[in-house]
Amino acid sequence: MNQPAGTSHCRSCGGEDLGVFLSLGNMPLSDGLLAPEALAREEPRYPLDVAFCPDCTLAQILATVPPEQLFGADYPYFSSFTDSLLRHSAANVAARIAERRLDGKSLVVELASNDGYLLQYYRERSIPVLGIDPALGPVAAARARGVETLQAFFGRELAIQLATNGRQADVIHANNVLAHVADTNGFVSGIGTLLKDDGVAVIEVPYVKELIDHGEFDTIYHEHLCYFSVTALTELFRRHGLALNRVEPLAIHGGSLRLFVEKRERQDRSVAEYLQAERRAGVDRFDYYAGFSARVARIRGDLLELLARLKREGARIAGYGAAAKGTILLNFAGIGREMLEFVADRNVHKQGRYMPGVRLPIVAPGRILETQPDYLLILPWNFKDEIMEQQGEYRSRGGRFIVPVPEVVVI
Ligand SMILES: [Zn+2]
Repeated sequence: MNQPAGTSHCRSCGGEDLGVFLSLGNMPLSDGLLAPEALAREEPRYPLDVAFCPDCTLAQILATVPPEQLFGADYPYFSSFTDSLLRHSAANVAARIAERRLDGKSLVVELASNDGYLLQYYRERSIPVLGIDPALGPVAAARARGVETLQAFFGRELAIQLATNGRQADVIHANNVLAHVADTNGFVSGIGTLLKDDGVAVIEVPYVKELIDHGEFDTIYHEHLCYFSVTALTELFRRHGLALNRVEPLAIHGGSLRLFVEKRERQDRSVAEYLQAERRAGVDRFDYYAGFSARVARIRGDLLELLARLKREGARIAGYGAAAKGTILLNFAGIGREMLEFVADRNVHKQGRYMPGVRLPIVAPGRILETQPDYLLILPWNFKDEIMEQQGEYRSRGGRFIVPVPEVVVI
């Protein structure tokens, strides 16, 4: 087992009274899909413990895996975003252009811009953009489609450099990245520096209340360092002279928040409503998180019991979707080749590789109809409707689906 740099200080406020409320054990890296030649080697594993900070209410994991381990050369390149995510991005862009009256003199920056999947919609409207992303493959793809992109990790220094060169942003997008950065305060401080005085940062993060209320333990992995509530976010932004002024709920990724952050404080009702609801539910107290561990154990028990029964009855079972959350679910529950024949995935970059830890082979979806297993365990359950629709043929031949979270059901 590797020992990453542990942290006994809160990632946001520096508090020292962190209380662990869930231990998933030693887990392989969730996105570290294995090439066939890697099967001979043992994989690195890191502890996955989640803790609550009573000082600023932030839920967070204790271990920080070095970014070069997480985002090394083997990091899979997600060129094919789902249709629903692209629609979500296009609508986001259209709303920002209308709301902020953006034009050819504006600048829109996206942090963790990947292959330009979002900024492309600004480009179509001739609004200047700048992407920032550390991963070479996606950066090259973004540049190829005309989206100017810096290959870099975003933080305090890069923000100062850009601002000094007169490049401040009217809109900053940061989708599903704030929870991933090891230097949380440096990242938020950088947003403050990069933003024009009347600019807005539009930030999407998974919502900790959804995670806890719906038992979504498989969205906890080493890349996800923080699990945000509006209470914790308000304090984080305020520390850097920023105000969380508006919050919108998003259905994507099993329940996320879209945050509107500006330099001038002018909170609308949504923020007060979230803060009030969180206080009522106890999201700002340790007890709220303490019951989560038992619930997670129950989901694991139910799933193992179901799979064992189906196997006893002679059923054949496969998995669908080589997603990061699948790695966590399969490894935490100990589901390997004795249970599942393979994991099918549409992404050609994943096919031919193996799921980390449990080492299930990843195959093209064509294998499903070729072999017609009796059940498909849907690992990225947040896309279950899309997946079941795509697998209409499998279903019409009598195939059934197992959805593991928020509770184990057969459809
Ligand atoms: Zn704290």
